[in-house]
Amino acid sequence: MRDPVVVGGALVRDGRLLAARRSRPAGLAGGWELPGGKVEPGETEAAALRRELAEELGVEATLGVRVGGDWALDAGVLRVWLAEPGEAEQPRPLEQHDALRWLTVAELDDVAWLPGDLGPVRAVAPHLGTVVTFGTGAVSGSGTVLDAVALGAGRCAVVTDRTPFHPVDHTWPDQPGDHGTLAGRPVVDCVTGARSLVDGRLLVGADVPVKRGGRGHSFVVVHVVAGDPPAVGEQVRLEVDEGRRRLLSAAHTGAHLAAYALNAAAAHLWRKTAPLDPMGSPDLDRLALVSSRIDVDGSTDTYRLGKSLRKRGLSAEQLADALPEVTAAANAVLARWVAGGGRVAVECDGPVLTDPRWWVCELPEGRARIPCGGTHLTDVADLATLTVRHELSADGAELAAFAVPALR
Ligand SMILES: [Zn+2]
Repeated sequence: MRDPVVVGGALVRDGRLLAARRSRPAGLAGGWELPGGKVEPGETEAAALRRELAEELGVEATLGVRVGGDWALDAGVLRVWLAEPGEAEQPRPLEQHDALRWLTVAELDDVAWLPGDLGPVRAVAPHLGTVVTFGTGAVSGSGTVLDAVALGAGRCAVVTDRTPFHPVDHTWPDQPGDHGTLAGRPVVDCVTGARSLVDGRLLVGADVPVKRGGRGHSFVVVHVVAGDPPAVGEQVRLEVDEGRRRLLSAAHTGAHLAAYALNAAAAHLWRKTAPLDPMGSPDLDRLALVSSRIDVDGSTDTYRLGKSLRKRGLSAEQLADALPEVTAAANAVLARWVAGGGRVAVECDGPVLTDPRWWVCELPEGRARIPCGGTHLTDVADLATLTVRHELSADGAELAAFAVPALR
């Protein structure tokens, strides 16, 4: 007779792995495991796993790629698949288990896994989202190499379980990736990657087919490293180029401030009531911004001044006529904000790359809190000056705002 096959499901959502605590039998109670169970006679392994996940957790899971090989059990073998619960489903401990936890890749050692699940959990780790610390301002740290692949031309792509590096976002690539070193090797770029739960493949940069946080993938920080790949499993030191990070943070904080200053300076031109920004001005930035580029020497925000903006109450002609006054007024607002200072923070809803992050800034007119995945200064007063220049395109359909910060 064939060895009995036990199937296990590594349920992954938002870059985290579901761990389930056994409530019985007595010998296993209190230990944590991947949910699953025995394949019944006449059942396929996939059908058995879907049945077990429905019975134990109440979810209709989509199965992904199989991870690892056959893990030996006392009787039989364990085979594990990645899986994703249905979009609106919340797994619940219906039988066999009395507690569930979604673990980040940095929390995998926080529960007492049953011995048979330790191997599978290690194999699942590269399929989880990267834990990032750039939001708290970190510029150094250590991590374990989960994946390292040669890219040709003497470069390799390295994924670690955690990192202080900020990667460029592939859907809104405003702030470039950090530079620095990984295990002493130069990190020449840092990009967002997506690992498919369906086939396990790592997609990088422009190849990433889904929006940030989309289903069917875990999102990871990919360090583009010059030199030979480090070994998988190696503990490595990660050091961000701190000077460059600080310039990018200053430019990013400056870009948001310049946007609110433009809103304030153009407020009197609106002919209709428009949605207001947190400082109380009509939110030209939110209604018309089409792209934002941050660099070490400043930022460029581009606004579309089309028909839809005119319908909302601001015409390109009015703005063009008043542009010198608008720019002067914006610079006066920026000078006042820089002189007065104001707390700046990045608030994170969680530590995983795709968890929502917010830019928070306290100014005399109000408190801004907007979605933002970048890095920032900690106070507006860290800037010595911040100036903005506005330029209309030849056809008058686009306005570019160039903001230049100088650090104290
Ligand atoms: Zn931002």
